[in-house]
Amino acid sequence: MDCIFCKIANKEINSALIYEDDSVVAFRDLNPQAPQHILIVPKKHVANIIELDDKELAAHIFVDVVPKIAKEVGVADSGFRIVVNTGEEGGQTVNHLHVHLIGGRKMTWPPG
Ligand code: AMP
Repeated sequence: MDCIFCKIANKEINSALIYEDDSVVAFRDLNPQAPQHILIVPKKHVANIIELDDKELAAHIFVDVVPKIAKEVGVADSGFRIVVNTGEEGGQTVNHLHVHLIGGRKMTWPPG
């Protein structure tokens, strides 16, 4: 399968990797929208959150990995945003589930 995030997870393509465990990688977004912009990606190919049927993986990402990385990059106290773009109207451009962790500046709402 020609999936760029699978290739990053497999180390076929380089990334600015900041975290890895058995099921997840996290790396810096190539086109950062804030001083901290990290993508948290399951190693196994899951197209989007609609296709995510693994509760253990979902909990691992949101209970373990997001708080850990937010603390490590220094935005846990100041605040940050989690975004999971899904599908065409959701603005998803890479069809491998990824959680954007964005912080280090004041966020605006609503999104465009
Ligand atoms: P989305 O629009 O939610 O699908 O987000 C895809 C994100 O992946 C965008 O923010 C891109 O900048 C980012 N991206 C695409 N290719 C790479 C790459 N090779 N390394 C890091 N980030 C990437």
